[in-house]
Amino acid sequence: MPSDDEILAELTRLRAHDAPTRGGRTFAYVYEAGLPGLDDLAARAYATFATVNALDMTVFPSVVRLENDVVAFAARLLGGDDATRGSFTSGGTESILLAVKAARDHARATRGLTDPAIVLPATAHVAFRKAAHYLGLRVVTVPVDPVTLTPDPRDMAGAVGERTALVVASAPSYAHGVLDPVADIAALARERGVWCHVDACVGGMVLPYLRRLGRDIAPFDLSVPGVHSLSVDLHKYGFADKGASVVLYRDAALRRHQYFASAAWPGYPVVNPTILGSRSAGLLASAWAVLRHVGDDGYADLAAAALRATEAVVAGVERIDGLRVLGSPASTLVCVASDITDPLNVADEMRERGWFLQPQLSFGGLNRTLHLTVTPATGPRAADMLADLAEAVRVAADLPSPDPDPDVAEAIAALNPAELGPEDMAAVLAAAGIVPGEGVPARSAPVLALLDAAPQELKELFLVEFVGSLFSASGA
Ligand SMILES: *Cc1c(COP(=O)(O)O)cnc(C)c1O
Repeated sequence: MPSDDEILAELTRLRAHDAPTRGGRTFAYVYEAGLPGLDDLAARAYATFATVNALDMTVFPSVVRLENDVVAFAARLLGGDDATRGSFTSGGTESILLAVKAARDHARATRGLTDPAIVLPATAHVAFRKAAHYLGLRVVTVPVDPVTLTPDPRDMAGAVGERTALVVASAPSYAHGVLDPVADIAALARERGVWCHVDACVGGMVLPYLRRLGRDIAPFDLSVPGVHSLSVDLHKYGFADKGASVVLYRDAALRRHQYFASAAWPGYPVVNPTILGSRSAGLLASAWAVLRHVGDDGYADLAAAALRATEAVVAGVERIDGLRVLGSPASTLVCVASDITDPLNVADEMRERGWFLQPQLSFGGLNRTLHLTVTPATGPRAADMLADLAEAVRVAADLPSPDPDPDVAEAIAALNPAELGPEDMAAVLAAAGIVPGEGVPARSAPVLALLDAAPQELKELFLVEFVGSLFSASGA
């Protein structure tokens, strides 16, 4: 039997090829406050509650206290009042799934709507598409302006019809970091008696503090008339460990549609406010401890630090020949386009220099871009990152295009997803340089470019096959 130290050392070794989660080098997925001791506090708070099951709050009443504190913090910050209610969830995706379910069931109960649709700006987070997929809603997509990257409220209004259960606005969007016209979208929803959800997953813990610092932030929260629900992730700019988000509702009558209860079995009486059944209270306790430790003033300081870092990144990117920032970043997310080189090659060059910038594929009329999530920990690193970025752009400009040969691209574009068998899939993965059992190729640009040559449905099939090839445990 291995010792505890050996087991832990093994876990540490397994992380050797991961992107670093601390040190300001990873510009997506990771949100780093840079506060000494915070990780340790989060881990100890988790450990204190690791064995508590949040499934039954009558048996573990501490869970009620913790969740009420966390939800109250979010409600106070985001324009709530005494009527506001919410839930702690495992992340933005769960918060969004629940809000969409609540809106769908509210529309069924109050309007008799049985074939619901959701109206989304094209830039809305993909979690809404996932929710629609899971919950059986039709998606109506509204294109965004190619320069502002936000939807025109008139187009949103035009997309709302008899079947619309809810409309969505982002505050801000993930891909481009721009703020949708929330007040206009909420107003048009209100006129038509339709639910409006504000996705503040990434902005909810930043925008209120930026406003407090004097930045001009258009109204986007629960104080806006017509907003029914709002999602805000604590595991982003709340700097809690992953698995922490809040969904808020204007009142208990709206939230009721989120809950599931059943007495139709012989076991204990069931009421699940959120999606999971049994779940550790550790993540809730951990997020609670982080909120307590950082506090309102601490978050204001962190937002200020992240904003300064963002301004440095934006100014630095604009100074690099061939790069430009898209849209008008509302908070601390930056989207970078290039006129002289392929962002996919730039991302690979940056990866070789120890930085992760997130490549984004072409979409509608928009070319490929890089996404940068900036955090307080970016600040001390910004100058180094920008120097490497300038060099990466120069090197990448001389690299061959990562795009597949035109005849390969044409063949891929012509594939019929409905007719593809396992051998065709294997052939496409092989063409992308993916060898089963060998994980992800070091240079991702050719793989992503091949993916980008495929129409949407085919892209999705390839993604499923590729990730399926990674998770290949056979039990043997
Ligand atoms: C992160 C994010 C989400 C949800 O993502 P999770 O990864 O499930 O937390 C939703 N909307 C926006 C705008 C986001 O940035």
